[in-house]
Amino acid sequence: MTRSETLFARAQQSIPGGVNSPVRAFRAVGGTPRFIAAAEGAYITDADGQRYVDYVGSWGPMITGHQDPDVIAAIRRQVSVGVSYGAPTELEIEMAELLCARVPGVAMVRMCNSGTEATMSALRLARGYTGRDYIIKFEGCYHGHGDALLVKAGSGALTFGVPTSPGVPADLAKYTLTAQYNQLDTVDALLAAHPGQIAAIIVEPVAGNMNCVPPADGFLQGLRERCTQHGAVLIVDEVMTGFRVHPRGACGLYGLEPDLITLGKIIGGGLPVGAFGGRAEIMQKLAPLGPVYQAGTLSGNPLAMAAGLAILRKLADAQLYQTLEQSTASLLEGLEQRASAAGVPFTTTQVGSMFGLYFTEQKAIRSFADVSRCDLDAFKRFFHAMLARGVYLAPSAYEAGFVSSRHGEAEIKLTLDAAEQAFAAL
Ligand code: PMP
Repeated sequence: MTRSETLFARAQQSIPGGVNSPVRAFRAVGGTPRFIAAAEGAYITDADGQRYVDYVGSWGPMITGHQDPDVIAAIRRQVSVGVSYGAPTELEIEMAELLCARVPGVAMVRMCNSGTEATMSALRLARGYTGRDYIIKFEGCYHGHGDALLVKAGSGALTFGVPTSPGVPADLAKYTLTAQYNQLDTVDALLAAHPGQIAAIIVEPVAGNMNCVPPADGFLQGLRERCTQHGAVLIVDEVMTGFRVHPRGACGLYGLEPDLITLGKIIGGGLPVGAFGGRAEIMQKLAPLGPVYQAGTLSGNPLAMAAGLAILRKLADAQLYQTLEQSTASLLEGLEQRASAAGVPFTTTQVGSMFGLYFTEQKAIRSFADVSRCDLDAFKRFFHAMLARGVYLAPSAYEAGFVSSRHGEAEIKLTLDAAEQAFAAL
């Protein structure tokens, strides 16, 4: 038995499924999850001492690689003066000022502890602000595991939401309407069916939780126009894309003006964090200024603020984003070439340093339905062939991959050499 196998067996005795977040269990790909012992730069090392080029990056936060020296130094400095106070600190002001300065549409911001908290709170705020109950989300978009957001359409976009998970009351889920990503007509149908009742439209500006689906031309702008016209709040969920796809996030990249925006992942430098912010008129409805309640024992945690500020200061560098985009492009170009040489139907998507891999004959991937038509079995076999050759991809065909600034030529070459063999073995 490998040490990961031993640990996985032991973990399952005391942790449901042996993991603290489901995708980590490798259910989608089969096999034993690798238990990680250490990480550095572009690499993670498992409990058996195997090293992998890591394209998960803690699911997005590690944009400058693991153990970024500036982040680690900032955490060390903060540890020496305290890890949590439950009272305000100057670090929180610095974080808020930085987010207001860099993120489009953010005049005020509140910190919380995860992306889930951020979207859940943004929804409550949108509902409190508009006095409306219904929300529109898109099939295949994930916004954390808050009750109202664990919903997708049952049959067709006009039906009431059915909960994706037991435990979400149907009476609550019925307020979550589901439209199709990149299809504005499905949004129009919902708006027409619920006049004056939609509190918010929430969207991933680049869908990164059904693999990686870029927005079609005009889609995001179309949502902006419809929200303005119908008095609904546009919530742009940038938990994944914020500071990932552009120095000013997806809103910066696409010139989109949100009403509310949610953030997480990168802004905590790898520590637990979330944030939501937006127009002052809406944010002022939050307690203690306004009636909409939201709070957190560890919110604005000094360690997370110190780590987040350290990373965000580095990310002011536009050159870094160009390099990231170029490395990602050469990775994807290389993968497509090797797939085609091996005769494997395969395509990729890219937005900045986010990417998607698809085993399919289709050339354009625009929707959840397109993603669902891909060959899941080929993905599984490719995943394991890569893992065996020292490359750690997301263990699911419905997750985006991430490149860090520590993925240099050597790491990309290692990945492409592994892929050449993996495609051939398919
Ligand atoms: N929104 C988006 C777009 C996400 O990608 C995620 C997490 N992958 C979340 C919200 C939830 O964040 P967390 O896992 O920190 O609760």
